[in-house]
Amino acid sequence: ILDILTKINDNTWEVPKSYKPFMRVPGRIFVSETLLHDLDKGTLDQVANVASLPGIQKYSMAMPDAHLGYGFPIGGVAAFDKEEGVISPGGVGFDINCGVRLIRTNLHKEDVRSHMKELVDELFRAIPSGVGSKSRIRASDSELDDIFLHGSKWAVENGYGEKTDLDHCEGRGCIEGADPSKVSEKARSRGKPQIGTLGSGNHFLEVQYVDKIYDQEAADAFGLEEGQVVFMIHCGSRGAGHQICTDYIKTISRASKKYGIQLPDKQLACAPAQSPEAQDYFKAMACAANYAWANRQVITHWTRAVFERFFGRDMDDLGMDLVYDVAHNVAKLEEHIIDGMKKEVYVHRKGATRAFPPGHHDLPDVYKAVGQPVLIPGSMGTPSYVLHGTEAGMGVAFGSACHGAGRVMSRAHAKHEFFGETVKENLEARGITVKATHPSVIAEEAPDAYKSSSEVVDVVHNLEIAKKVVRVLPMGVAKG
Ligand code: 5GP
Ligand code: MN
Ligand code: MN
Repeated sequence: ILDILTKINDNTWEVPKSYKPFMRVPGRIFVSETLLHDLDKGTLDQVANVASLPGIQKYSMAMPDAHLGYGFPIGGVAAFDKEEGVISPGGVGFDINCGVRLIRTNLHKEDVRSHMKELVDELFRAIPSGVGSKSRIRASDSELDDIFLHGSKWAVENGYGEKTDLDHCEGRGCIEGADPSKVSEKARSRGKPQIGTLGSGNHFLEVQYVDKIYDQEAADAFGLEEGQVVFMIHCGSRGAGHQICTDYIKTISRASKKYGIQLPDKQLACAPAQSPEAQDYFKAMACAANYAWANRQVITHWTRAVFERFFGRDMDDLGMDLVYDVAHNVAKLEEHIIDGMKKEVYVHRKGATRAFPPGHHDLPDVYKAVGQPVLIPGSMGTPSYVLHGTEAGMGVAFGSACHGAGRVMSRAHAKHEFFGETVKENLEARGITVKATHPSVIAEEAPDAYKSSSEVVDVVHNLEIAKKVVRVLPMGVAKG
């Protein structure tokens, strides 16, 4: 790998255009020298492959948590010209709008520590989890249309949350341009019974506490303080999103051939951004993204209800405000300055988090001075982080940062390597309660299956594409 890469600075490595004849732009991999050892050649090659796609701007990028994905690497960021570029389902991923939200509380870690087992049990009961898990909500056809069109707003208007929650979501919890008529019957039927469900494996509900403050001003703006209990939700668009991705990979693969796009890897199937095929995918993808926002909003509401019952205190008293909700698997039409010119581009973030700077118009007033909250989960045994977006990040990475620690080991490998019960006992010995649908899930998700979240976050912090605000530690985790 070191023979291929050119070092740009301590945390930036370039895949030169000369590496493969088909590359239109160079690749940029944001990693430290230490993390470079965890990077496999397959991921590097995926970065190079993405650089072959028409209309790609500046660089094909990978964040420090990057690892092998479907066509595009997970941890990949690529922006394509609105007219000359392409849209690709593989650049978004199967779990469309998988994302993270963080909820603050007025509770102190000592208020909850001794009740953790019961609290995790209650959360596990209240929020259905597991592969095909079903919800108490059965959406009708017209409700599903509203969910696809309006996202979080549907949830809030139907009693699942507060109006102010919407201000604290990326894009107010909705992508415009969704069109339910572009979603298959199969995707609809998978979506109807799953609103308000967690899903499996990597998705989680986590009770955490703020353990360290790096930036007091930003922490104040986000309503975070040391010792405080916070709550993190990680999930996406469930079967509906998966089906929409599956459906459109077929359509878009045909379109790639139709429009004569040369692909170094079939999984990079894409279509010209303004073609009917690409636009149909985008409209369906927006439905899935909005479904995921509604899903996280319903889960938020049920979580608040669990806390209210459990602590015998009401929502206002508990101060369970939404800090922020970010997507980390989505394509969006955004305006960026490229070579000194304002330009509209389709930014694909796949396993990458939007990280917009202070003053950006998409931020609520309370965050305008400090920038967008950037939520980076670690693992059930290592720290997670809250950062804020920066102006530098807009220039370097289209306003993006990493989305987690990133795997060093596949699920299959981890299941082979670790024993679920042992991982659980070790975490318990460290005061972390874990409950999962099956012990194998705990093995697959063992902290050692992931890179060091601290090392990964330090890369984006040192590059100043997002700056650290607080560190949080896990106390209780409900896994899908
Ligand atoms: P992904 O969306 O790629 O499945 O996961 C995003 C990130 O979540 C992973 O890279 C990993 O760092 C993190 N993660 C996975 N499981 C857990 C967990 O149980 N708790 C926390 N805090 N983070 C996790
Ligand atoms: Mn995710
Ligand atoms: Mn997901």
